[in-house]
Amino acid sequence: MSALLNTDPEIANAIYQEESRQSTVLEMIASENYASKAVLEAVGSVLTNKYSEGYPGARYYNGNYVVDEVERLARSRAKDLFGADHANLQPHSGAQANLAAYLALLNPGDTVMGLKLDSGGHLTHGSPVNASGKIYNFVSYEVDKESHLVDYESMLAQAKNTRPKLIIVGATAYPRVWDFERARHIANEIGAVLLADIAHISGLVAAKVHPTPVGHAQVITSSTHKTLRGPRGGIILCDEDYRKRINSGVFPGTQGGPMMHVIAGKAVMLKEANTTEFKNYAQQVVLNAKHLATHLIDGGFNLVTGGTDNHLLLLDIRDRGITGREAANALEKAGIVCNFNSVPFDDRPVREGGGIRLGTPAITSRGLKTEHMSLVANWITRALHDVNNEDELKVISQEITTLLNEFATPGIA
Ligand SMILES: *Cc1c(COP(=O)(O)O)cnc(C)c1O
Repeated sequence: MSALLNTDPEIANAIYQEESRQSTVLEMIASENYASKAVLEAVGSVLTNKYSEGYPGARYYNGNYVVDEVERLARSRAKDLFGADHANLQPHSGAQANLAAYLALLNPGDTVMGLKLDSGGHLTHGSPVNASGKIYNFVSYEVDKESHLVDYESMLAQAKNTRPKLIIVGATAYPRVWDFERARHIANEIGAVLLADIAHISGLVAAKVHPTPVGHAQVITSSTHKTLRGPRGGIILCDEDYRKRINSGVFPGTQGGPMMHVIAGKAVMLKEANTTEFKNYAQQVVLNAKHLATHLIDGGFNLVTGGTDNHLLLLDIRDRGITGREAANALEKAGIVCNFNSVPFDDRPVREGGGIRLGTPAITSRGLKTEHMSLVANWITRALHDVNNEDELKVISQEITTLLNEFATPGIA
């Protein structure tokens, strides 16, 4: 980074500081990961200079023969990895992918059904503060009051009641497997289209450790930087019948020129995700989550749905006399970074949260295995035992630093 250091030492130093932070904490935000050095190099390349509005072979600017190949490669790798008819690699993020899909499939005011926010749904699934909730008439289904599992019976009943044109499955804080086949049956019953938002689980789907929505959902959206471990961005997969509409929904519908440097990074990520090494990685992510869940339950924690099938755990800490925010702040002092989160039927304000969300994608990229999960559970238990015990939090962070010294940080060192 010598050019950057010369031109702008403040930003260069901020990047060094962030490299140091990322390599010295136990990174447990369920939506984060460590992109590889190869991905980072692609994203930091001169492809950022190119304007290429349009699609390969049909651009509005000249000089695109090189980036056309980059986008074609990314597209064919995505189709191959997921087994989809079509892939659009241009969405700048998961939220942009959803907005483009809505534009392609709906008219303003149309009814759409998604998972309720405190059941684990995402802001872009109809929150009143998001464009989705302002432009479309969102109705929601919930998880079951007792089991906290997605209730497909009530999804069907609600669908019949409200007749949405589009049903969205997928979540940002749901620790269990989705039944995409069943959701498609429900959509078919009322003549709705099914959209699967697999932003969180796309890496697990790619590695076949979570069932695929391909063949069930006509349109699939995702981010590319969560379990997929690529650059920050989005992707849309769809059936051939939806190809033209989806492409128009992205450009010119909701975006201008694509970020070709990021699309190159996505291509690299898709190549990496199509390896045995990545499959083993994704299996380990789930194994680590399951083991961590078992240890935390043994330690007396209350896990939403009683465990996990995927990469994340939701701890309901309302019985501990602290808020999710206080818990997450104490954990950060102890060297464990996560986020506070609402739990199903939460009686606390969203800004406090009755729970915390923990994920294993990043620590598994770092190299932590099943045998380390009892250590992690022990650190969490000790930190949350007394969130005001600064000395103990410090001791924990030192223990974490000692363990992490044994592991290189992907993309950093
Ligand atoms: C993270 C997430 C998104 C948004 O992705 P961004 O890249 O942050 O815009 C959309 N949907 C779900 C379910 C998510 O978890």
